[in-house]
Amino acid sequence: MKESIDRRLENVRARIAEAAQRSQRNAAAVELIAVSKGQSPEALAEAMQADQLLFGESRVQEARTKAARLPGRTRWHLIGHLQSNKIRQALPLFERIHSVDSLALATELNRIAGELGLFPKVLLQVNVAAESSKHGFAPTALEDELEALLALDRLEIDGLMAIPPFTPDAEASRPFFVLLRNLRDRLATASGVPLSELSIGMSHDFEIAIEEGSTMVRVGTAIFGERGKKAWKPTAE
Ligand SMILES: *Cc1c(COP(=O)(O)O)cnc(C)c1O
Repeated sequence: MKESIDRRLENVRARIAEAAQRSQRNAAAVELIAVSKGQSPEALAEAMQADQLLFGESRVQEARTKAARLPGRTRWHLIGHLQSNKIRQALPLFERIHSVDSLALATELNRIAGELGLFPKVLLQVNVAAESSKHGFAPTALEDELEALLALDRLEIDGLMAIPPFTPDAEASRPFFVLLRNLRDRLATASGVPLSELSIGMSHDFEIAIEEGSTMVRVGTAIFGERGKKAWKPTAE
């Protein structure tokens, strides 16, 4: 029998609380982002019934379509690569952008945020395993470019995000989470900017991420089930 979204959410919340307790952390310091890419607005409405109002989406247009269909209490985070021609649409919708992955994108975001009169909260995405398939700053590049990034006065840069290589073994993610946290500590010391947010942890490894200091877990499958081949698309309406 297929488990309901509210049961799955309850289960994920309990596991977050246990992981926080194990690592002497406050569970309230870990925000749960329900990653709803590929899920229908009806599935999101079900999650909202269970008090989940914060959703993570990879695509601007998909998020806009869903946001227009759902009541206004929802909050949206962008977790996928942002193309510069989508910035103007993205900025008013997303409370936070996790995926700022180059100085060029950050500079363009800063410029358009200025035009729109906004001060967006953003995270810097780090390519922790130097994978050619993934976006993000190389750790050394980020150390070199941090000063230029922090000089962008419209951006509220307050942390880092990473997506380690996928393996079913959650423990395999731990060294990458540690690498990200250590990088954060170095950058914070060098810049005097705390960078207190760490966006790490997905369905298969969020408990490990919490043990290593995650403040935002991005959980999709464990809440909504497999996205599969018939993923919802805005054009499929
Ligand atoms: C899809 C996605 C997630 C969620 O992955 P699950 O394995 O379904 O929990 C988290 N972060 C990013 C950046 C994603 O693209």
